[in-house]
Amino acid sequence: MTTPGINQFPAPSRAVHNGIRVIMNEALALNNPDLIRLEIGEPDFPTPPNIVEAAHRAALAGHTRYTSNAGIPPLREALADKIKRVNGFDVSPESIVVTNGGVEALFVALTAIVKPGDEILIPDPAWPNYMSIPAVMHAETVGYTLRPEHGFLPSVAELEQLTTERTTVLMLNSPSNPVGTVFPRELLVEIAEFARRRGIWIISDECYDQVVFDDTFVSTAAVTDYERVISVYTFSKTYAMTGWRVGYLACPPELTETVVSLQEPIVACVNTPAQYAAIEALTGTQEPLDMMVSAYRRRRDAAVAQFKAAGINMFCPAGAFYLWLDCQHPSMDGTDIALALLREHGVAVGPGPAFGRTSTGFIRLSLAASDEALAEGIQRILASGYLDGARPETRHQLNG
Ligand code: PLP
Repeated sequence: MTTPGINQFPAPSRAVHNGIRVIMNEALALNNPDLIRLEIGEPDFPTPPNIVEAAHRAALAGHTRYTSNAGIPPLREALADKIKRVNGFDVSPESIVVTNGGVEALFVALTAIVKPGDEILIPDPAWPNYMSIPAVMHAETVGYTLRPEHGFLPSVAELEQLTTERTTVLMLNSPSNPVGTVFPRELLVEIAEFARRRGIWIISDECYDQVVFDDTFVSTAAVTDYERVISVYTFSKTYAMTGWRVGYLACPPELTETVVSLQEPIVACVNTPAQYAAIEALTGTQEPLDMMVSAYRRRRDAAVAQFKAAGINMFCPAGAFYLWLDCQHPSMDGTDIALALLREHGVAVGPGPAFGRTSTGFIRLSLAASDEALAEGIQRILASGYLDGARPETRHQLNG
């Protein structure tokens, strides 16, 4: 008889896996009241009160039981309206599944379509969960590079090159974390044609769809009739609802039953009062959303101006709430720099190596901090001298 053991997952390298946590844990352990936290990817605003009150009302009214695996019908209907209005495509409420945040939407979508040993094309750099979720499924991730000299956009020629007979999914992320790129319509059309040609699924993570600074954002499903597109969204970023854990996906009708049945063993359903809160988020006042996006835009503009004034040419994000900085340091990578900034200068940032294999020299700053904290944090970063390699003559042609 063998002793039951602990499953081993083909986890990505430690650096990738734990990078942001390492900084976060050390930042918390430092217990420094003067510390400026720019490493975290969540809105610094509270959830708008009308949303909190809707959850309260729902709980008092007895909406405290399990719901159907797919979510309550009025929420799925409101989501179909939102997708038509914001994302520009038609989807029936029956093809929408309410999930435990964007994380579980991605998890359940991948579980529905991926087998062990499959290859999944993911951006590099990418949000680290694109590496860790497939690892749980014993699937392999293959990074396609988002190059600064191409505006951090994917190249279809590279996607072609990386695709093998084991490739089953292409992950897209626009607006992107960590870079803030928004994919242009023509590129999405080209990518969808490529996916159709190679018969692979597209999972389009559009979790920052409403955190955008101009009107260039388009949804993948709005520009193609290719039927293998799964679109993933969340309330976390748009409505400052990270802790409520409400997300959703829209998928082709033939996939819905599988996705819905997978909800049962994973989460059964999403927290019921939170689903009612989500209805209020969609149907109530949108003023808090406008206010938050204006604040991120204002901070982005101020931060880019501050870096530019210091002679640092940088990529100006069109969406999400991050700044992605190439430090171009001759001897330190992004983790070394993040640790040094934290320990010596009292500012926490995300280390580039956490986001992929090609971004070792980068750091990520979050715009989800007060205007004052952000300005002071950037001042400290500039004064540290760790960005001096990026100062006058940058190697890349960037748009900022
Ligand atoms: N997708 C991207 C690109 C993200 O950055 C995040 C969160 O940081 C998510 C999805 C999932 O967010 P949540 O699970 O809070 O909805």
